Amino acid sequence: MFAVRNIQVRRRRAGARFAAGGSLLPENRVERECRCGGRLEKKKSDGGRISWLSENRVERGEKWECRCGGLVIGDILKALRIPHALVLETSFDRPNLKYEVIEKSKVPLEQLGKLLSDRFKGSSGIVYCLSKNECMEVSKFLNEKCKIKTVYYHAGLSARQRMTVQQKWHTGEVHVVCATIAFGMGIDKPDVRFVIHNTLSKSIESYYQESGRAGRDNLPSECVALYQKKDFSRIVCMLRSGGGKKASFKTAMEQARTMQHYCENKVKCRRQMLLEHFGESFNPRVCKNGSSSCDNCVKSTS
Ligand SMILES: [Zn+2]
Repeated sequence: MFAVRNIQVRRRRAGARFAAGGSLLPENRVERECRCGGRLEKKKSDGGRISWLSENRVERGEKWECRCGGLVIGDILKALRIPHALVLETSFDRPNLKYEVIEKSKVPLEQLGKLLSDRFKGSSGIVYCLSKNECMEVSKFLNEKCKIKTVYYHAGLSARQRMTVQQKWHTGEVHVVCATIAFGMGIDKPDVRFVIHNTLSKSIESYYQESGRAGRDNLPSECVALYQKKDFSRIVCMLRSGGGKKASFKTAMEQARTMQHYCENKVKCRRQMLLEHFGESFNPRVCKNGSSSCDNCVKSTS
């Protein structure tokens, strides 16, 4: 048994080749972002680790992309009852993404506005926020004080409102969307040039997934996390008020701390931190010598 990185499970039957995608995530979550547009179905639970599997799709010969550090290949193959499947492993690395963490100033919203106008003017991107209120506040501030046209998106909007926001953003009528993590399902916009986290994500898995919405066209794109210590406390508050079980709270806290360490580390290659989290070893020289070096690699002199 070994940790799954980015694997594709394929089943060959009568010479069939399979093509469709889905993402398996740890902790019983599946991102419903099938590239084929297909719906993923809840099929079976395997010790709480794999609860979303679509056996039928695999039976018909679909390809699965699994992006998680917690699952093991053996578990997946067993649950899908395809022990002899051909397993292809590919890297988690996204060479066109530049990762960066910027410490928040005393006037973080102005700082965000400046960042957007200085570096991302006219580019399409997402500003991820922790709560609905934060989305609305950030969007309002950028519209009114910084004269940057933005829209906001969160789960509290009606289906119609959400569709309007998505359309405006997809067509380029508005370049920036301030959103909670509710914004993401089904997004397949290739030319997202930046993903800024106005508040850090709750876990590395979430961060990798959310920031990964940048640069799907493989052109250079930026993933910036704006960070301040007290944002971590906001996450802790949110987890405490979540009312989950003790064990899940502990896990969530550990995940949040790992994300905090990512933000506070000013030395280690960010790409290396992300990839190591998914069990992949990575030589930071590749990042340093690449075209989208992370902020820490740019700073390092060795
Ligand atoms: Zn690096």
